Formats: sequence, C-alpha cells, structure tokens
Amino acid sequence: MSTYTCSNCDFEISGINCGKCGSELEYKVLTKDDGSTVNVSECPDGCGKIKSPMCCGDDMVAVG
Ligand SMILES: [Zn+2]
Ligand SMILES: [Zn+2]
Repeated sequence: MSTYTCSNCDFEISGINCGKCGSELEYKVLTKDDGSTVNVSECPDGCGKIKSPMCCGDDMVAVG
C-alpha cells in the first residue's frame, strides 16, 4: 500500500482507493510536454485518475 507523505509537516495518507471499483490507486509521475512533472493517482482498472493529494501547497509524495 502506498503512503503519501508531506515533506513539510509529515502529514500522511495511506492508500487511496478508487470510488468505482475499490482498487488502490497507483501513484504515477507524468512528464508534460514542457518538461514539468505532475503527480497523479491512477486506477489500475482504468476508471480514471486524480491529481495526487497536496499538503502545505506541495504535492504529497508516495512511498512504499
Ligand atoms: Zn477503478
Ligand atoms: Zn504538510
């Protein structure tokens, strides 16, 4: 299970599940055309993806 952590305040969220199928969303980093990166959480069953959670104004990073 992925745990999302904030590098500023140590706030953690463990595991985000898809509201449609219940699968755990997979953490991915997408690189955009301009070279910047976006952290997203994507359903492995293809239901869709959301932007990764944010805390303290920064994207939370998934570990584990
Ligand atoms: Zn799903
Ligand atoms: Zn924070």
